[in-house]
Amino acid sequence: MAQVSLKGIKKNYGATQVIKGVDIEISDGEFVVFVGPSGCGKSTLLRMIAGLEDITGGTLTIGDTVVNDLPPKDRRIAMVFQSYAIFPHMTVRENLAFGLTIANAPKAEKDAKVAEAARILQMENLLERRPSQLSGGQRQRVAIGRAIVRKPAVFLFDEPLSNLDAALRVDMRMELSKLHADLGATMIYVTHDQVEAMTLADKIVVLKGGVVQQIGTPLELYHTPANLFVAGFMGSPKMNLLKARVEAIDATSVTVGSADIGTVVLPKGGVSAAVGDEVTIGLRPHHLTLGGAHDITGKVVLVERLGNETLAAVALASGQQIIAALPGDVEVSANQELNLATELHRASLFLPNGVAA
Ligand code: ADP
Repeated sequence: MAQVSLKGIKKNYGATQVIKGVDIEISDGEFVVFVGPSGCGKSTLLRMIAGLEDITGGTLTIGDTVVNDLPPKDRRIAMVFQSYAIFPHMTVRENLAFGLTIANAPKAEKDAKVAEAARILQMENLLERRPSQLSGGQRQRVAIGRAIVRKPAVFLFDEPLSNLDAALRVDMRMELSKLHADLGATMIYVTHDQVEAMTLADKIVVLKGGVVQQIGTPLELYHTPANLFVAGFMGSPKMNLLKARVEAIDATSVTVGSADIGTVVLPKGGVSAAVGDEVTIGLRPHHLTLGGAHDITGKVVLVERLGNETLAAVALASGQQIIAALPGDVEVSANQELNLATELHRASLFLPNGVAA
């Protein structure tokens, strides 16, 4: 097992810099997810760790070894791709054993390692099948099994669940969490899906434009996003972002106001803003409730019934819409006026430059 350290990592393609100096520390046994929109550089970063892309600048360490110039086979990593990359003409057993076969491993060792991987992934009854006789989820399990057999120090996953349907993705997510708990291995996982990131990660790295926006646990990112980008990206439905002006500041609070929210006092101390600054208030849909002291009033434009909860889109005075996540059986319908209470101690506040106060 091993820790992974990225210090000042950069990647240029020609004159274009796509990774702009990234620092990430990954502990031994940690499950770290790189997440961000398409093109943010997460796959490039993973491929640099794997040794499939040259590193333009910075230092990459796996365990105690600087691996910048080591070929992939010497990095003690195994990578699982979105496209399963298993051999169609081989059985599951042969696929699992492939790496050991080309390394001329003794048969007893091969059999033992294949049996162990098949047991961990509950595929003992599938060993004699070929990939064409497997479902998508089973094929991806074979690909993961091939990684397990190699006993890598670090597992790298590049969007491994993207080709699976929604229900299977949920199952496989749970299997991956269990696999991580069983193996205790360091795992680095790339996805554009913030739900996958939230559910799998010990630690999430949010990327945008080749720059790390925030590193933290799922709940740190949910409750205290570092900037407007992370606030909008993590959490479903998205955080509501409302423009307001600073009306007063003291040592323990900031008073902000807008036509939509009236005047509210946010219990935040030491905020470096000035009276008159245009700031943004962030309110999670799940932190809005019906009625109460700090009313936001608006008109319901759309109601989505999800069973366990009801999402109401509400148009405010300025025309901006917000989403409130209300109880599943709440009585609410389109065109109705709605009073919402906000939990102000849970609100986020973003300064004019988009950074959290
Ligand atoms: P993500 O995985 O987050 O979708 P990528 O890491 O694939 O993003 O790509 C990051 C950026 O690098 C993108 O702008 C992409 O167009 C660019 N890029 C990726 N590969 C190459 C390449 N071989 N040549 C030039 N630009 C590339």
